[in-house]
Amino acid sequence: MKIEDIQTPCYVCEEELLERNLLILDDVQKRSGAKVILALKGFAMWSTFDQIKKYLHGCTASGLHEAKLAYEEFGKEVHTYSPAFKGEEIDEIAFISDHIVFNSPNQLFKYAQRVKEVNPKIEISLRINPEYSESPKEIYNPCGIYSRLGTTKANFDEGVLEFVDGLNFHALCEQNVDALEGVLRAFESKFSKYFKGLKYINFGGGHHITKEGYDVERLIKVIKDFREKYGVEVYLEPGEAVGWECGYLISSVLDIVDNGMKIAILDASAEAHMPDTMAMPYRAEVRGAAEANENEFTYRLAGNTCLAGDIMGDYSFDKPLEVGSRVIFEDQIHYTFVKSTTFNGIKLPSLAIKRRDGKIEGVKEFGYENYKNRLS
Ligand SMILES: *Cc1c(COP(=O)(O)O)cnc(C)c1O
Repeated sequence: MKIEDIQTPCYVCEEELLERNLLILDDVQKRSGAKVILALKGFAMWSTFDQIKKYLHGCTASGLHEAKLAYEEFGKEVHTYSPAFKGEEIDEIAFISDHIVFNSPNQLFKYAQRVKEVNPKIEISLRINPEYSESPKEIYNPCGIYSRLGTTKANFDEGVLEFVDGLNFHALCEQNVDALEGVLRAFESKFSKYFKGLKYINFGGGHHITKEGYDVERLIKVIKDFREKYGVEVYLEPGEAVGWECGYLISSVLDIVDNGMKIAILDASAEAHMPDTMAMPYRAEVRGAAEANENEFTYRLAGNTCLAGDIMGDYSFDKPLEVGSRVIFEDQIHYTFVKSTTFNGIKLPSLAIKRRDGKIEGVKEFGYENYKNRLS
């Protein structure tokens, strides 16, 4: 299949670009001694897991369903964290997880014994809130004011020490290693007295390791120094860095209307298929297009839902768009299909993989049943 033959809308993940990210992450693992696991929250295209598991050590899951996917489709290590676990799910989670990460001493005391009974080999960790973050956006700041995520120094209970094998933190969002160093300083100054006897510290996600300009050498040094200083293993659990710039969302123009400006209505939706362009918000790159008015033909690109604000943005092209033209949004693989919805009953974009030989292979299509089955 070639691009022109793809039924739209469709997310296309490029194997070669994914491989490039994996090689960078593997290089970090090999030279720093850290273990890297995939955060399924950001990228969970399981048809690529055979490729990913050649390099990464496992997955980090945000609860039962992600843990099951990791267990069934990835194998290797399953780390499961949830802001709060439920009694009816804890046995199944314990059975399939190698590591369980509690958010509070309360939760840890409630379930630690039970998870060990179900799975004597399970390792237990507590998520710490280092109360320091340089996160650029408050909704992505796990260490912001009144955050529920992780245990602060004031809420730490030394009674957890008899149960824990490790400690976790997660405080970054699309950031470079200087932000990690700031977090580590805060984390160490508050908690390093508890590191003795621990097996590992998990540095969470948000490390933008595969982005151009990320200081990989400095990350390797920071991890090596930390491991030597405290004699612990280090985990990183990126999601975005795995799926970073390794594919696109391809859509078609269905109609063009003119209401003071030309508006192209697409068969994809910002709200339903590119949610972070609305939530973050950010402007996706469009292949072959520039800012409005830079090229001769400017359009507002908009989704096929009834939400007035379902708009990707204003873009200009050097040729006019026509009904049937393809519009390709770049870098739409992380935090897209894991979050997409059937709002307005519109079709979920299909999933495809561009193989290393250039061929595009469809791996999943969605239809009416996916809409109907989640309603009653
Ligand atoms: C979201 C999240 C990650 C992954 O973050 P990325 O920004 O996608 O790298 C890792 N760990 C935890 C606990 C998270 O909540």
